[in-house]
Amino acid sequence: MGFSTIAIHAGNEPDIATGAVSVPIYQTSTYAQEALGKHKGFEYARTQNPTRSALETNIAALENAKFGFAFASGMSAIDAVLKLVRAGEHVILGDNTYGGTFRLFSKILSNYGVEFDLADTTDIPNLERAFKPNTKMVFVETPTNPVMSVTDLKAVSDLAHANGATVVCDNTFMSPYFQQPLNFGVDIVVHSTTKYLNGHSDSVGGFVALNDEKDAEWIGFVQNGIGAILSPFDSFLVLRGTKTLAVRMDAHDKNGRVVANFLAEHPKVLKVYYPGLVSHPQHELAKRQQSGFGGMVAFETGSLSNAKSVLETVKLCILGESLGGVESLISHPATMTHASVPQETREKLGITDGLVRISVGIEDVEDIIADIDQALK
Ligand SMILES: *Cc1c(COP(=O)(O)O)cnc(C)c1O
Repeated sequence: MGFSTIAIHAGNEPDIATGAVSVPIYQTSTYAQEALGKHKGFEYARTQNPTRSALETNIAALENAKFGFAFASGMSAIDAVLKLVRAGEHVILGDNTYGGTFRLFSKILSNYGVEFDLADTTDIPNLERAFKPNTKMVFVETPTNPVMSVTDLKAVSDLAHANGATVVCDNTFMSPYFQQPLNFGVDIVVHSTTKYLNGHSDSVGGFVALNDEKDAEWIGFVQNGIGAILSPFDSFLVLRGTKTLAVRMDAHDKNGRVVANFLAEHPKVLKVYYPGLVSHPQHELAKRQQSGFGGMVAFETGSLSNAKSVLETVKLCILGESLGGVESLISHPATMTHASVPQETREKLGITDGLVRISVGIEDVEDIIADIDQALK
């Protein structure tokens, strides 16, 4: 079956009780039991909820995974995956992950004896040197936020597996429509459903998808044991969102390419970060690994004051954190999403004070360009 057919039908069975075509929001905390120990598979809503189950079936199918778990946020999904790692074990973390992921490692997990090192995962020989005898996991994000570096998922998976480590990929930027990491040998996919999967900037959520039965059992145990579950209403919203994922991603991609090309030719723009540009260092890899380039574009304005003036002069593009919604959002990584990353690390990665990031929405692209153009002037 094709992607859109799966997106619309997987998990979306008509309701058994009423025939409702949309999965109802089962807003309940518990379920009546017929007799002691006799129930319909639902006992308590932290453990099981039919709306959440429908979403879990849906996104697992989109990621070509056997198992899926929906969480209260992208961060809680990532935290649950890190519960596969124990004190004294080591994780290699991509050096340009989402700021919150870096913060989880540096400020929280480090208190519990989880060791980690940062590595540029776009450079495989460099990654190889980062392995230690106790390396349990490699955590990558591709393309990265906000400088859009692309990591070779097959090469990383082969290397990690040869060293006995599990590979996790944060697939938030591409969504399963443009990239299915499990198909390249990645073991676990995580998402912030807050972004493209929900797609309408009205829900915060996260997801874990995987094939390994033993790890899935543990993630399910952690989901229930810690309780950072996605609510029935948010599950409904994301389930509604994924039905249009393909058409939205196609529109983001189409607009993203136009905006990236426009910026690349603009005299006030010093550099553009977009894997769809031939000038991007991993353009060929992106073409191989992704079926599109998406709607995330970052560009260098040269200084904080230039960036500030663009960010404060745009009218259509909304100044704000987050990404992946139908509306274009513009942000300043150095002071917003990546404020928790030390300045030295930021500069090394190219997250300068002059860098501006746009999550290109699906408005008419002429309007988006006119807005950026007037702001740059
Ligand atoms: C937003 C984001 C997260 C965190 O997700 P939340 O839903 O905000 O908790 C993780 N990874 C990436 C790539 C993100 O963009």
